[in-house]
Amino acid sequence: MAVHLLRFPVQVVFGEGSLEEIRSFIRSFGKHALVVTGDGPTASMPAVDTLRGILAREGISVSLFSEVKSDPDVETVERGVARAREEGCDFVIGFGGGSPMDAAKVIAARLNNEGEIVSWEGVGRIPGRAKPLVCIPTTSGTGSEVTWVAVISGGKRGQKMSIVSQYLYPVLAVVDPCLTYTMPPEITAATGMDALTHALESHVSRRAWEPTRALSLKAAGLASAYLERACQDGSDTEARRGMSLASLLAGMAFTASGLGLAHALSHALGARFGIPHGVANAVLLPHVMRFNLPAAPEAYRELAAAMGMEISGLSSLRAAEKAVEAVEGLLAVLPLPRNLGDLGVPASSVESLAAEAFLNTRMRSSNPRETVPEDLVGILREALG
Ligand code: NAD
Repeated sequence: MAVHLLRFPVQVVFGEGSLEEIRSFIRSFGKHALVVTGDGPTASMPAVDTLRGILAREGISVSLFSEVKSDPDVETVERGVARAREEGCDFVIGFGGGSPMDAAKVIAARLNNEGEIVSWEGVGRIPGRAKPLVCIPTTSGTGSEVTWVAVISGGKRGQKMSIVSQYLYPVLAVVDPCLTYTMPPEITAATGMDALTHALESHVSRRAWEPTRALSLKAAGLASAYLERACQDGSDTEARRGMSLASLLAGMAFTASGLGLAHALSHALGARFGIPHGVANAVLLPHVMRFNLPAAPEAYRELAAAMGMEISGLSSLRAAEKAVEAVEGLLAVLPLPRNLGDLGVPASSVESLAAEAFLNTRMRSSNPRETVPEDLVGILREALG
């Protein structure tokens, strides 16, 4: 029998208006916060001023670091660290999508640890505890607010590095669906497909077990029920709440069970072509699922049922295929590119992308089907369209 670990040290506050609740937690974290946001719309969201006000009433001052672009790199993180040191910040708040939250995670770790960030790629390489960290998502996709992962660009081969450490868990995640209402349909779709990919990949992962499967099934059901609605009408509060919950639960699932080939490939595509993470996952997901089906038919059958597909009376493999059909049906109605060709990925890059993705041994080892580089080439060719 396998031995499993479930570690979940993050306090989570969830619900509309939960940003206000931060005041009951924040006093013990420090006196001066570095608030890390994106360099686009997130820095000017009214909620940033609300946050400042709440912190001010608790006697906490704020320095704003709003230089984080999508897929943040090592240099941006180091600039954030320098700012925090200059201004005497003693804790960090990541506010935005996965990009500012991941930058905030590594800034918090770097403030307490010397050494080069590139040497932290992989599992367990950060030497010691981070400064206290709070994460507040404004997208419903990455689940980064509850994971022990930060994805930072600028590894030695120019790759997106997954830094994985128990010291990257936030002490507090505040998930307020109201903060996602301003996402336009394309970002809602891309980030929502990231959440669905987390749910599906964690459910079929070799490291999945009962608690992670319960979370991933619920997340898959929520995302398939609410993503189209959230894209069609960003003010549909029930759909926004459903997607925030899907993202949170999928993050809780995959931080324990790991991910798979869609993520290994999308990191390679993001690093080489700048394709947004959720868009790359969306385009790859059905092709990765078809490749994996024979290795995990029962898990895919469960997902098909969770996503509302009729599977009674079907053979195991046919029922599993219904999960792919559910994803393809959803993709057909979302405002997203259909294939890698539409995203400008040339056929000539397939072998080198596959070779880069193959180096991601962590995601390859949790993927349900044994993989050789030619398999990744095949998946990419299918996804080219
Ligand atoms: P993002 O943070 O890069 O943001 C995407 C865009 O959405 C930006 O232009 C941003 O300004 C905009 N945006 C964010 N919130 C908005 C709002 N409420 N209204 C309007 N616009 C808004 O995108 P993301 O998909 O959230 O994060 C992607 C990053 O997260 C990637 O680098 C990916 O590798 C990483 N990631 C990390 C984890 C983890 O566990 N740490 C998991 C998955 C992905």
